[in-house]
Amino acid sequence: MKPNRIFLAAAALLAAPLALAQTAPQAPAPAAAPLTPEQAALKAHVQFLASDALRGREAGTRDYDVAAEYVAAEMLKLGLAPGANGSWFQPFKLVAYKPSEKAKWSLVRGGTEIPLQFGIDFVNTPAPATPDFKAEGGVVFAGYGIVYPEGKRDDYKGLDVRGKIVAVLSGVPKGLPNEVEAHFGDDDQKALIAQKKGAIAVIVVESLAQREQFPFETFATYYDYERTGWARPDGTAYATAAGAPPIGYIGQAGAEKLFQGGRIKWADVLAAQRKAARVPTGALTGTLKVASKTRLVTQGTRSVVGLIPGSDPALKDEYVVLSAHLDHVGIGDPVNGDRIYNGAMDNAIGVSTMLEVARKFVASGQKPKRSMLFVALAAEEKGLIGSDYFAHYPPVPRDKLVADVNMDMPILTYPVEDLVALGGERSSLGPVIAAAAASEGLKVVPDPAPEEMFFVRSDHYSFVKSGIPAVSLDTGPGGAGAEAQKKFLAENYHKPSDQIDLPFDWNSAAKYMRVNYAVARALTDAPERPRWNKGDFFGVQFGGYGAQ
Ligand SMILES: [Zn+2]
Repeated sequence: MKPNRIFLAAAALLAAPLALAQTAPQAPAPAAAPLTPEQAALKAHVQFLASDALRGREAGTRDYDVAAEYVAAEMLKLGLAPGANGSWFQPFKLVAYKPSEKAKWSLVRGGTEIPLQFGIDFVNTPAPATPDFKAEGGVVFAGYGIVYPEGKRDDYKGLDVRGKIVAVLSGVPKGLPNEVEAHFGDDDQKALIAQKKGAIAVIVVESLAQREQFPFETFATYYDYERTGWARPDGTAYATAAGAPPIGYIGQAGAEKLFQGGRIKWADVLAAQRKAARVPTGALTGTLKVASKTRLVTQGTRSVVGLIPGSDPALKDEYVVLSAHLDHVGIGDPVNGDRIYNGAMDNAIGVSTMLEVARKFVASGQKPKRSMLFVALAAEEKGLIGSDYFAHYPPVPRDKLVADVNMDMPILTYPVEDLVALGGERSSLGPVIAAAAASEGLKVVPDPAPEEMFFVRSDHYSFVKSGIPAVSLDTGPGGAGAEAQKKFLAENYHKPSDQIDLPFDWNSAAKYMRVNYAVARALTDAPERPRWNKGDFFGVQFGGYGAQ
């Protein structure tokens, strides 16, 4: 599970990790009943993958590669076929990138060139697909840069931004639904809109809300922190909107300069934000000269893909994906003398579950009607990278991927009574999951923390962005769940103590696995492919099957 955006930004920008409460070593679990073969098989994968020998499975390291080889070997043993064009592996390149210099920007007005000051007025941000980026043009301020017809919002109304640099406020205005906020709070999605409108670059202006959380001056100190993306098969770095890349961040002083002498006053933009009113939009005066140089470092990694071919002549060319990220965060700062971030719950148990679901498919003796892909994804922790690559370059035709069911950090330290299907309410996957859960005596309950937008924080979301109905299946808050999950998140999440000696409830782990099997089996064998609910926000945004 990747941290949420604010946490991610803060964690990336702070020199030292957040000083969270030091925790005592886990108390030994009380003597438990012997494990059933099903439970032992689940535990065995976790025991190996989360062992100190694998040193936290950071994508791009040999430690991760050993984990990938293990998963491929287990898939072979289970009777799967290699699922990535005849190989067990889908290799790709991670791209670590950051600004390579403090850029020089200036405004030209009436023949005079006014330099903008780095760190005071602006900082350049990296643009991996255009590593030596330069542009010059008029600037159009497009408010928050959101186009959302269902919400009767078009920040580009009346604006012509062709050949222009678009300036947008960071974040989103108050009062939008969580899902809309999560979608448009992403600068890349705003840049994609600007690109469609014909803009040549995007600059992001600090909003008041952003200033309260993380002021420009602080961000400026850490402007060159390292981000991670991926490279296309031809080796070039991918960016969501390479034609209009976000290339800089403007502080309050810079905004004053940018708006000077124009029809729209920066003071009015500030006032509108304070009143939560529509901000004025339009062209600013003069032209802006911008540049952004980006340093790229690539490193190979790979996802692991196993296949069970479908048996129905009419359905076997459609693929259901069961996915779980295999990587974790590697070696880090020591906690109680332990530097290895083992990632047992995050997400060795997810990969283990996936392998055991595969075993059940094979053991059933019944071939699925649709084909089934089992994918151990790389580099989730670096920002959903392996899944994004997979969703862009799937080993089978993309429109034949009919669903993704993802498993990421199901917390399994208590007797599970219910499940949460992140995104289940958005597509026909929801009722399928409810029926599968009921077969194990479990309920499916709504996400107890919708404001956290876990929906956009795990690998299934990369599939969503390709229009594919997708969910992540999590354990729920019922019974001891809420307390156990709170405890895990506070004491073990992304810490060296997320390891095999956590008090795993293997009976619950087995139930969770069987539910995932029942879900996958129902999806492979149903006569109709899964579809988005008509009008669902994400289904509509990404052109998903059934949404229109
Ligand atoms: Zn994680």
